[in-house]
Amino acid sequence: MDNMLLLVLGFIMLAAAVWIKANRLWAKTGLPGGQVVYDDVIQTENGDWYPQREPLYSQQLQLVGRPDYLVREHDGSLTPVEVKSSPAPQQPYEGHLLQLAAYCVLVEENFGVRPQYGIIQYRNQAFAVEFSPDLEEDLYNLLVEMREDLYAGELDRDHNDWRRCGRCSMRGQCVQRLG
Ligand code: SF4
Repeated sequence: MDNMLLLVLGFIMLAAAVWIKANRLWAKTGLPGGQVVYDDVIQTENGDWYPQREPLYSQQLQLVGRPDYLVREHDGSLTPVEVKSSPAPQQPYEGHLLQLAAYCVLVEENFGVRPQYGIIQYRNQAFAVEFSPDLEEDLYNLLVEMREDLYAGELDRDHNDWRRCGRCSMRGQCVQRLG
């Protein structure tokens, strides 16, 4: 075997190793296979990442939001992905589920294709969450509640969490703050 052939074989083996490694890394993210339609970050020449695309808007629900990723699956359907920097809980938090449901609605209205599920990617684990009629109904109920609260005038605090008030950006103006 001459040197040229060895070199070519070396390149092929290196390419295969890189391909396998890339697939393992992709699998570790928990993201489904398929082509990413857009993400809200781009990589520049110096490796920095910046926000990119416009938010999605739902006329029907008067809702605006932007999933971290949209993935086009092999069957043509779209999957929104929400990335959280925190470690995974036993089950996704209700707020995260409803946020994902909102993204599913936005995807359906903007792209005309209903996601079968969405992904919540925590730091160490991803959850695939079915976009079921029940989850969709929970979202609608929450939106109705929020809009009713908006026009209800003064609202009572609905928690006794001092830390929550301590972190709240409204604490300066809020007459019901704890602490
Ligand atoms: S400061 Fe007021 S608005 Fe903020 S969390 Fe506390 S009660 Fe709610």
